[in-house]
Amino acid sequence: MSQISYRSTRDEGQLVSSAEAIVKGIAQGGGLFVPDKMPKLTKDLQGLMDLDYKQLAYEILSLFLTDFKEEELKQCINSAYDEKFDTPVIAPVNKKGNKYFLELFHGPTLAFKDMALSILPYLLKTAAKKLNIDKEIVILAATSGDTGKAALEGFADVDGIKIIVFFPQNGVSEVQRKQMITQTGNNTYVIGIDGNFDDAQSGVKNIFTDEAFKKELANNNHMFSSANSINIGRLVPQVVYYFYVYLQMCKNKEIELGEKINFVVPTGNFGNILAGYYAKELGLPIDQLICASNENKVLFDFLSTGTYDKDRAFILTTSPSMDILISSNLERLLYALSNENVDTVKTLMESLTTKGTYTINEDMKKNLRGFVGGYATEKETEIAIKEVFEETGYVMDTHTAVAYAVHNKYKQNSGDDKKTVVVSTASPYKFTSDVMKSIDPKYSEQNEFSLMEEMEKVSKVSIPKPIKDLDKRPILHKKQCKKGEMKQQVEEILGL
Ligand SMILES: *Cc1c(COP(=O)(O)O)cnc(C)c1O
Repeated sequence: MSQISYRSTRDEGQLVSSAEAIVKGIAQGGGLFVPDKMPKLTKDLQGLMDLDYKQLAYEILSLFLTDFKEEELKQCINSAYDEKFDTPVIAPVNKKGNKYFLELFHGPTLAFKDMALSILPYLLKTAAKKLNIDKEIVILAATSGDTGKAALEGFADVDGIKIIVFFPQNGVSEVQRKQMITQTGNNTYVIGIDGNFDDAQSGVKNIFTDEAFKKELANNNHMFSSANSINIGRLVPQVVYYFYVYLQMCKNKEIELGEKINFVVPTGNFGNILAGYYAKELGLPIDQLICASNENKVLFDFLSTGTYDKDRAFILTTSPSMDILISSNLERLLYALSNENVDTVKTLMESLTTKGTYTINEDMKKNLRGFVGGYATEKETEIAIKEVFEETGYVMDTHTAVAYAVHNKYKQNSGDDKKTVVVSTASPYKFTSDVMKSIDPKYSEQNEFSLMEEMEKVSKVSIPKPIKDLDKRPILHKKQCKKGEMKQQVEEILGL
């Protein structure tokens, strides 16, 4: 098998091992780590068909993380995809009407972030050990709601690691907020900021690239790492479920082996859909990757015009995990679109920082084939939830509903009726109130927690264990700060 190294999207210099890329999180100078070449599948799809999720995860992860030993990887995989998930299938596919819902919300925090964040702590610990790092690792994360909880859950009480999460105080659902501020673990810190997700994300990125601060930290025997989706250790595990759902559909005779299908992905930071692109590059028969946005439709505009423009109003929607105007992982796509031209990527990203916008050239635009953008308004999202419920009895969460609505519009406009997987990123129980209101306005008066019982009745899916009695758990995190004070908060926590 060929060795894969990682390099920055923004400069020629550094080649590092996957272990180093995982520990560092982000490359020096602010670029993102990408594989120096795309690995190749060593087995054909037929040969992968009978593998369970963990076995398949090994096949995929071992292609990307070539410096990990077989037993190291297998141990990480086995520790991650265990009874924390409420089904041994891990990522079940649920056919309703003519759509296939890939349910990625069966993990401990009920959102797709668990698919990667349940394994990242093990990959990180293993990587640190391989590199003989004896410093305490400090995970900094910005969250639009789901990453924070999934990272807290994954890293809680892992020794040698502290985790600090910043979330937009007024930009997450009530269930998401409660999930975070009731987090246990002596090494967990949760702070609400008075800004939006982009503020939290930029704040964290600024701390990460503050060389003087990093030096101070190192003198104190600490080092930073990232649990955000810019970490390659999060991206790679997400490639697995694209293969898994495809193979399940083949096994269930829904598709022929080799038949091309589409995926519609509710998108924010472009991590999930980028993993789909990597799966396609590895040879999975994907035709279109449909990028679904909510009213923060910066990606839709980019995919249709070639111009990315973040300078617009930030809209708080009912799908908060997609309320993002700076889609970090898009940088990795730019790298691919430019035929791996680091100077081009650097120029575009500098333009984004200084002018808030950039435009890709015609050649890069041509390379966008295979991606389609779409967006759903709040009203369309609401209608989608109601329609699917009335037609099939299936209750979608708000993010999944955005994807569903976008796919319907795409199908109508393009006439493309290839089989399509709707990537379902959260349990409807995380967004109980907005989901129930969409089904029937009569639910408007009740709070999220009493509505959980109503949802149980209408959906006939039991309230998931991880959020049962969430409203009765003690609040353990009360810290709040201004968006400009994030660094001071980190200093305080670390006693610097
Ligand atoms: C994070 C998240 C998304 C967006 O995923 P990206 O990888 O950031 O594009 C969509 N839906 C839910 C529920 C999420 O938690």
